[in-house]
Amino acid sequence: MTTPDATRTPNFIRTIIEEDLKTNKYGGRVHTRFPPEPNGYLHIGHAKSLWLNSVLAQDYGGLCNLRFDDTNPSKEEREYVESIKEDVRWLGFDWEDREFYASDYFDQLYEYALRLIKKGKAYVDDLSAEEIREYRGTLTKPGRESPHRNRSVEENLDLFERMRRGEFENGSRVLRAKIDMAASNLNMRDPVMYRILHAEHHRSGNTWCIYPTYDFTHGQSDSIERITHSLCTLEFEDHRPLYDWYIAELGIYHSQQIEFARLNLSYTVMSKRMLLELVEGGYVSGWDDPRMPTISGLRRRGYTPESIRDFCERIGLAKKESMVDIALLEHCLREDLNKRAPRVMAVLRPLKVVLTNYPENKVEELDALNNPEDPGMGTRKVPFSRVLYIEQDDFREDPPKKFYRLAPGREVRLRYAYFITCVDVVKDERTGEILELHCTYDPETRGGDSPDGRKVRATLHWVSSAHSLHADVRLYEHLLTAPNPAVGEEGDFKSYLNPNSLQTLTACRVEPSLQSAAPGSRYQFERLGYFYVDHGDSSPEKLVFNRTATLRDTWARIQKAGEAPSGKVHKREKPREAIEPIGEEITIEDFSKLDLRVGVIREAGPVEGAKKLVRLMVDIGEGRLRQIFAGISSAYPEPEKLIGKKTIVVANLKPRKMSFGISEGMVLSAGDLDRLCITAFDGDPLPGDKVS
Ligand code: ATP
Ligand code: MG
Repeated sequence: MTTPDATRTPNFIRTIIEEDLKTNKYGGRVHTRFPPEPNGYLHIGHAKSLWLNSVLAQDYGGLCNLRFDDTNPSKEEREYVESIKEDVRWLGFDWEDREFYASDYFDQLYEYALRLIKKGKAYVDDLSAEEIREYRGTLTKPGRESPHRNRSVEENLDLFERMRRGEFENGSRVLRAKIDMAASNLNMRDPVMYRILHAEHHRSGNTWCIYPTYDFTHGQSDSIERITHSLCTLEFEDHRPLYDWYIAELGIYHSQQIEFARLNLSYTVMSKRMLLELVEGGYVSGWDDPRMPTISGLRRRGYTPESIRDFCERIGLAKKESMVDIALLEHCLREDLNKRAPRVMAVLRPLKVVLTNYPENKVEELDALNNPEDPGMGTRKVPFSRVLYIEQDDFREDPPKKFYRLAPGREVRLRYAYFITCVDVVKDERTGEILELHCTYDPETRGGDSPDGRKVRATLHWVSSAHSLHADVRLYEHLLTAPNPAVGEEGDFKSYLNPNSLQTLTACRVEPSLQSAAPGSRYQFERLGYFYVDHGDSSPEKLVFNRTATLRDTWARIQKAGEAPSGKVHKREKPREAIEPIGEEITIEDFSKLDLRVGVIREAGPVEGAKKLVRLMVDIGEGRLRQIFAGISSAYPEPEKLIGKKTIVVANLKPRKMSFGISEGMVLSAGDLDRLCITAFDGDPLPGDKVS
């Protein structure tokens, strides 16, 4: 997918491959595969797997196959195969002639099954699915052997052949491996290899009425394709002994399975079952709804393949389940589009502005930069006239403090154009609604600077009323409101559906250069974000844009605050909301204003209803104890042990009212989200001593 790159971050799979190359384990070969099951559309988690498999193959001069794991006839459809191919291609992976299907191995798998029966390693069982489950036992209780376990080889061969010929009903018999009903690994308790399913398969049609299970297929498919390193997600770790057992009993080529942690992304779900539920329940418009974490959804949202690949590289590879902040994905997108997306002006919620001193029929063509990041992208002309639109948000009749945009009597700059001053607000007499603004412009400021050096504090985007085009714009928010909706305690993840995840604005105006905007192209609307010309619904007659991302980079802010330096949000933790900066950054002078005191912890205990907090009563030499709620319980599960400890307290904070009481200060602590400890002293400072 990308060119080999020596600067790639090392990871444990690379280490294994490099070791195997050194010892010549596979004759110097590296052969991986991406094995989607065609029972849904690909999502961003699959992109990670695809990226990993293909980049490893490429970097080590190997090959990567595309294999459809299509063993289940009832759930798989051609539509899914086609969508997967389209997505894989779009992501930039070329599988050349290596497009394989597990269903192409049905003959071979059947022959493998016969081999195991003949070896006395597989048997036909007449127990029902329910009974098999019951006989299997549990983690603490060994399983029981089926009464049919000791059938003769001849009887098994006969029954299995008749299963294949279609003599039996669905579910009446299965073929099972004969391994060990007392094995501690439940996967080894005589797993099912074949089941009867009178169903048509999207490729093999009605040739078969018995189908191999995924577990009896996957390892052998790898073997048949002579895959060297078979990468899969952690949930298959417990299946590895079974795959190895099949390979060893059959005496066939052995592929090395290596597990890695699946990608979880905050504010979304990543299971095909759940995504299908959203599609079938009509909660989204389809698999390619721009709010979906599917590749087709991300594409329709306006994501680029480059930004997705960059994201895959940056999240790295882990052996432990973790949650990645969706803000990182957006950050990768912004970085990419910032370089490439042409800038244009669009007004989403128009407010009419009449320039009372501008001639009625005059139109000026002003020069605007296509991309300040890349002068090579040139300039374009934007028409300017007496009647304009600006954003409703950019005007306040009664501006609050720190609102620097337009207000009565105030002067602002119109991007690439002139300074204007608001002289009158025209309202609907009945409703009080603002209908239009009357402004004057200063002809001396054309291009955006005043010859007398006068400054304005805001620059607004605008469009000319007569020249602008109508457009629909769709704004998106996270589909789900919980950072980790899939494990929500409230049960159904759909209870977290965000009612505001889609907002369609239908009165938008965009500059005329967008007349020729091709579906599938991307723009930055100045000050508003990145927008994608919807490839499904946009036409020259009716422009439709999807907002891909706002300009506000939550991720950059999280990084700056040092909260998640590696690109990960820690295990199942709620990613923190980015906080709007209140003003300038904290300076050293600000920091010196903090009153830091030595505090001695006199009481410490848990807080009812707030698992993360510890309630401390701290002596800072004031003749009374201060109550402080500190989010340190993960580091101090037994808070009593803190009693008597000396720590640093920030003593001059405004008391904070929390639902369980007032918190009068903060305890300084250090660490990351995993490990944390409060500051402590060894010497003999007294409570209330100043810390400098
Ligand atoms: P789901 O559980 O949503 O149905 P799956 O794992 O069954 O997903 P497959 O089509 O079997 O989906 O997946 C194809 C490949 O992509 C497999 O190798 C799988 O391990 C990998 N994969 C699936 N989901 C993720 C994820 N979230 N992160 C990384 N890899 C993934
Ligand atoms: Mg799977």
